[in-house]
Amino acid sequence: MAEQQSFFGRGKWQNPEMERQKSYGPRRFWLPVDDGSGKGKTKVIFLDGAEGDMFFLFEHQVKLGESWQNWWPCMQNWNEPCELCDVGDDPNYLAMLSVMTTYQNRKQEWVATRQLFPMKQQTYKVIQDLAAARGGDITRWVVRIARVGERSANVGSAFDFERKIPDHETLCREVAPLLGWIGQQQLRPGQKRWTVEDYCKPFDYVEAFQKPDPKELIRVARRLRYSPITRGGEAPAGGGPRGEDIPF
Ligand SMILES: [Zn+2]
Repeated sequence: MAEQQSFFGRGKWQNPEMERQKSYGPRRFWLPVDDGSGKGKTKVIFLDGAEGDMFFLFEHQVKLGESWQNWWPCMQNWNEPCELCDVGDDPNYLAMLSVMTTYQNRKQEWVATRQLFPMKQQTYKVIQDLAAARGGDITRWVVRIARVGERSANVGSAFDFERKIPDHETLCREVAPLLGWIGQQQLRPGQKRWTVEDYCKPFDYVEAFQKPDPKELIRVARRLRYSPITRGGEAPAGGGPRGEDIPF
């Protein structure tokens, strides 16, 4: 089960026992492999999904300590030399979309949460084909997703398009009952109050993936230089078991 957490992974501290390390980007959608118990299945609503909506990014995923949940944008994105490439880590080339998905919190209540939907090439092609069959845009489609097979992409491999929500207002109305936290936000100074309308929009990718601090990349590169490089592949990146009775 995905733990209840800040809705933006940026600045989230990973693995407090290890050297504290900032990880980039919003929380990411992920499914465990479906073992027949139903936990490798869920539903999402795509919050964007036209060709022009996709955000493309070279990104490093590195293992620090026991955790694969460490991502840094590659400096190639800004046409600059990259410390992580220099130590031999190959970045992934990803296309990003945004989804609304759900999980059960500690009180077993269904809660909606917005997550990044990162696609490697294979998933990108599948989604492109599915979008092409729907006029080139999957925005506001409710999609059942299953992750079938150990080697399948961690965002899932089987996509069943159920229905399209007609407009943003209807989407907000459907999701609002699962966003109880929005009415109970306790703001720290300078924090923005979320509305359902804003939360049901895709991420601002440019804001979420800003150029990393070169000092930070040097620090990570130094750690990688002294540990064997292992590839992230489809390593777990969040998410968790799902029940059968999924809202939307
Ligand atoms: Zn790089």
